[in-house]
Amino acid sequence: MGSSRQVPIEKVRNIGIMAHIDAGKTTVSERMLFYSGKTHKVGEVHEGSAQLDWMEQERQRGITITSAATTISWQGHQINLIDTPGHVDFTAEVERSLRVLDGAIALFCAVGGVEPQSEKVWLQSERYSVPKIAFVNKMDRIGADFFAVVNEIQSELGANAVPVVIPLGAEDRFRGVVDLVTMRAVYYDDESLGTVHHEEEIPDEMREEALRWRENLVEKCAELEDALLHKFLEGEELRPAEIRSALRRATIARRVVPVFCGSAFRNKGIQRLLDGVIHYLPSPADLPPVICEKSGHARPPSDGEPLAALAFKVQSDFHIGKLVYLRIYSGQLRSGTEVYNSTRGKTQRVGRVLRMHANRREHLETAFSGDIVAVVGLSETRTGDTICEKDAPVHLEPIDFPAPVVSVSITPASRAEQEKLAHALHRLGEEDPTFVVGYDPETAETIVSGMGELHLEVILERLKSEFKVGVTTGRPEVAYRETATTASKAEYRHVKQTGGRGQYGHVVLKVEPAGPGEGFEFLNQIRGGRVPTEYVPSVEKGVIRAMNEGVWAGYPVVDVRVTLLDGSYHEVDSSDYAFQEAARMAFRQALLKADPVLLEPIMTLAVVTPDEFTGAVSASICQRRGRIESMEMQKHNRLITAAVPLAEMFGYAGVLRSLTQGRASFSMEFDRYEAVPYSIAQEVIARRRERKQRGT
Ligand code: GDP
Repeated sequence: MGSSRQVPIEKVRNIGIMAHIDAGKTTVSERMLFYSGKTHKVGEVHEGSAQLDWMEQERQRGITITSAATTISWQGHQINLIDTPGHVDFTAEVERSLRVLDGAIALFCAVGGVEPQSEKVWLQSERYSVPKIAFVNKMDRIGADFFAVVNEIQSELGANAVPVVIPLGAEDRFRGVVDLVTMRAVYYDDESLGTVHHEEEIPDEMREEALRWRENLVEKCAELEDALLHKFLEGEELRPAEIRSALRRATIARRVVPVFCGSAFRNKGIQRLLDGVIHYLPSPADLPPVICEKSGHARPPSDGEPLAALAFKVQSDFHIGKLVYLRIYSGQLRSGTEVYNSTRGKTQRVGRVLRMHANRREHLETAFSGDIVAVVGLSETRTGDTICEKDAPVHLEPIDFPAPVVSVSITPASRAEQEKLAHALHRLGEEDPTFVVGYDPETAETIVSGMGELHLEVILERLKSEFKVGVTTGRPEVAYRETATTASKAEYRHVKQTGGRGQYGHVVLKVEPAGPGEGFEFLNQIRGGRVPTEYVPSVEKGVIRAMNEGVWAGYPVVDVRVTLLDGSYHEVDSSDYAFQEAARMAFRQALLKADPVLLEPIMTLAVVTPDEFTGAVSASICQRRGRIESMEMQKHNRLITAAVPLAEMFGYAGVLRSLTQGRASFSMEFDRYEAVPYSIAQEVIARRRERKQRGT
C-alpha cells in the first residue's frame, strides 16, 4: 500500500450502531458487511456465524460485548463501523465508543419502539454531541408499526425525527420501502438475500400517503434553510440533491434525525440505510477540530498537522498479540516509526498498522487523519492514552472509567495453572480498563473486580474458552467502602530508638466527612515549619496508605477530608518514612473516633414487565431492601424503577425469569454509595473475618 490516502477524508465515516439489546444490532451490522461485498455469506445470529461477534462466547450469548472497529466500503466511501455493546454492564464501552465515533445509527425495533435502554444510550450520545440517523428494524414482525416508533422518537427522545423512507406494507406483507427523496418504490428480492432490488412507480394505493410524507420531509428541509423555503413557498419542486444536502447539514447540526426502516433479518432496507450513512452522517472533516487538554489548542483533522491520536481500545488477538485501536485526529501514523505516548511519557515503536475488515486484515504503510486503525507494537499503551509526536506533544482528554463495584476471588484449578492464570488476567486487564485484578494478602486470594455480575461472568468464561485456564471462584462480593460520619482529631508520635539513627515523626490530623462522591482531599494548615514542607507530602502519602484499609472492616476509605493541623520534627531522626508512619496511625485513630460506617453500592434498577407480574416484581424488589421510585405504564408493559443495594442482587436474572415466566427484562447500573444498615454491616464484617481466617 502506498503512502497516500486511499479515500479522501470527506468520504470517511466513523460510525457506531446504538441499540437496545435484541433490537437487531448484530444482524444489521452483519448485513451491512454482507452488502458492502466484504463478506461472502449471510450468517445468522442464531447459527452463531455473524462476523462481528469475534469471541466464542459472545456468540453463545448472542450479545455483542467488545468494541471492535471494522471497515467496509460503500459507494466509494470508507465506513469504519465501531461496535458499541448494548448491555448495561458495559456502559463504559458505550462511552468510549461514543468518544471516537463521529455519527451513529440509532436502531429501534418496530414492535418494541423506544425502550428504557435506548433512551439511556440516546442521552449518552447527546452528551457527546453525536449526530444520528435512525433505523426502525424488524418491520416484518407482527405488530410492527413504523409511524408509532417515529412518534416515540419525537415524544420520548425529544428528537426532530423525519422519515426519509416509509414502509411498503408491514408484518408478513412487508416488501420494501418508498424512498421519499426520489419518490420511487424499492422492492427487495428474497431469492438473492436482498442483494437484487428493483425500483418501480409508487403503487397507487400508497401514493397519497407517500405524498403526505414527502410534503413533511420537504417542509422540514425548507424550515431549516431559507433558500429552500423560498422555493417551497413558490411551489417549486426540490431536487433530490437539494433535499439531501439540506438534510445533511441539519443532521450534522443535530437539528433533525432522518429515519429509515427495514428488516435486517428479511434482507430489506439495509442498502438505503448505508446510503443514509453516506448522505447524512458527518465525515471527520465536518466536525470541529479536537481540543487538546491543558494547552487548549485545536488540532484540525488535516494530514499536514502533527500526529494526535487516542487509543480507545486494547484487544488481544490470537494470532498477532496485542492490538491497540487508535482514532487519528490529526496528522499521519507510519508503520515502523517512533511515536510518543504523552500519557505515560514513553516513546513507542509503531509496528504494523492494520485496517480491520470483517474477514481479513489489510496492512497499511500510513494511516491518515480521521481514520480508525489497529496498531501492533505499542506495548505500553493502554486505553485512553494519547499518541502523538515527541516534538509536538499534546494531551487529548482521557477516557473516564467508573470504579468496579463487584469482585470475586479466583483460584486456579491446580498449582501448575497459576502462571497461566496470571498471564491471562494481565491480558484481560489490559483490554478492559473496568476489569481490575488485585490480590488480598489477608486471604491470600486473587481478586478480580468489575462492573457487574454479568461482566465478571463474561470474563470468567473467556478464561476458560480463550485462555484454557480452569479456575474455581468464590461468592461474588460487592466493593464495600468505609467513611467517616463526624469530624475528629488524633495525634500520633512515631518514635523509635533502636541504636544508630532513630525515627521521629509527629502529626496532629483532623478527619471529617466530605460529601458523597467527593473523594479524598488533603489540606495543610500547619503554621511556621512545625512540620517541614519537605515532609508534608510524606504525611499525605501515609494517609493515602491508611485509606486503603479502613478501621471498621478493612475496606478502602472514601469521601474524607484530612487536615494536617500540627506536629513536630527532629533534626536528625525525622524522615519520609517516620512521617508516613505517624500520619498512618493518626489517621486510623481519628477515623475510629469519627463514627465510621460501611458503605455499599446502590444501583438503579429498571424492570420492564407485563402488568400482571407488577405485584410479584415489586415484592421481589422490596425483599431485597430495594426502594421503588416509580412505576409507569409503557404501552402494554409496566416500567418499575428502583434503588437497590447491589449486594442483594446476585442472581436476580434467574429470579426475575422464574417470577415472570421469562417475560420481564431488567437493566441495572451503579448510582451511588450509601451506608449499610447496622445489622447487615455486622454480617458483612463477620463474613470477612471468616475469610481472613481461612486464608491464614
Ligand atoms: P442485538 O442483540 O441487538 O445484537 O440483536 P440481534 O441481531 O442478535 O437480533 C436479536 C434477534 O432478533 C435475533 O433472533 C435476530 O434473528 C432477530 N432479528 C434481527 N433482525 C430482525 C428483523 O428484521 N426481523 C425479525 N423478525 N427478527 C430480527
